[in-house]
Amino acid sequence: MKTPLIMTPGPTSVHEDVRRAMAKAITNPDLDMEFYEFYKETCNQLKKLFLTSNDLLILNGEGILGLEAACASLIEPGDQVLCLDNGIFGKGFGEFAEIYGAEVTYFKSDYRKAISVDALEQFLADRHDFKLALLVHCETPSGITNSVNRICPLLKKYGILTVVDSVSAVCGEELKTDEWQMDLVLAGSQKCISASPGLSIVSISKDAWKVIRGRKRPAAGFYCNLGIWSNWYEKKWFPYTQPISDLYGLKAAVDRILEEGDSIARHKKYAEAVRNSLLNAGLELYAQDGFSNTVTTIIIPEGICFRELFDAMLTDHNIMIAGAFDYLADTVFRIGHMGENCREDKLYLTLKALDDVLKKHHILLKKDLHREFVNLIL
Ligand SMILES: *Cc1c(COP(=O)(O)O)cnc(C)c1O
Repeated sequence: MKTPLIMTPGPTSVHEDVRRAMAKAITNPDLDMEFYEFYKETCNQLKKLFLTSNDLLILNGEGILGLEAACASLIEPGDQVLCLDNGIFGKGFGEFAEIYGAEVTYFKSDYRKAISVDALEQFLADRHDFKLALLVHCETPSGITNSVNRICPLLKKYGILTVVDSVSAVCGEELKTDEWQMDLVLAGSQKCISASPGLSIVSISKDAWKVIRGRKRPAAGFYCNLGIWSNWYEKKWFPYTQPISDLYGLKAAVDRILEEGDSIARHKKYAEAVRNSLLNAGLELYAQDGFSNTVTTIIIPEGICFRELFDAMLTDHNIMIAGAFDYLADTVFRIGHMGENCREDKLYLTLKALDDVLKKHHILLKKDLHREFVNLIL
């Protein structure tokens, strides 16, 4: 099998340095004291990317584990939870909260736009008796980034805990955890960080710890309970055996990002160029504002269906693009420009292949996608 170039919004390509780190000989992570130092150092490096002095943990499960752990650890049955819903992940986050017994109020807004901070402000002025709010930084299916910089401080003004799914945003979108008063920030290894899938990352503020430690009833479950990580470093005790090879990979990936310096500027630059190439060629984007730095969602033009587009990209060009699910299935396709995929050569190849496939299907383009991309980044 020839490995395709995966230009999907996660998982993303994993750099050779990261794969090499994953192949290192392992130790016993429970008994080797040096491993505790390694884990802590990896957390400290991640804190630099989150711009936080809060505690940070790496959980041993794909991004969804972090979302579920947030709900399991913070929510008690009957709690009032506000879910900011402008997309599939936002709505789904609210449903997780319901599983843990929350009474969820959905602040639903236009799925093609970023959440309106003004509308939210008006809503909150009337009603703000919420213990916590769930929101998504970047709605990956629609390619929309929400203004967490304004939303989180607004929620905190009313004493509402802020829980942010930043899985597809961390390292690609600006993130200032402490300055923006984000209580829980959730990330995954397989998006802009470009390590292999399998790890969740969560930063936890003092206010959030207070809620976790002050529960009336213990959290339902063990693996999802963030409380089991209390004092792991002081006690030299992990709640379960660490996936050491995945963590070696993650550390190598994070080192690469820190060495680069400003990965967000790179994401912004290439996202703009991809977006404008598509627009200038006459294609339509799903998002109407709040355009994401990490993924672009494009309406499938007339004359081709998703299956034909996907198959032709893969068979003729060995490039994998993504569709979307739920109500967006067969309506849009997505190009991920995250992490290691957010590179000029890979994006050029992707747009050139897309140009070829669309033209072979007699879809009129006003510009050559790849040529336009090159012009835009010059
Ligand atoms: C990728 C992603 C997750 C993790 O979910 P998977 O679909 O299992 O990869 C969670 N939230 C957002 C916003 C994501 O993009």
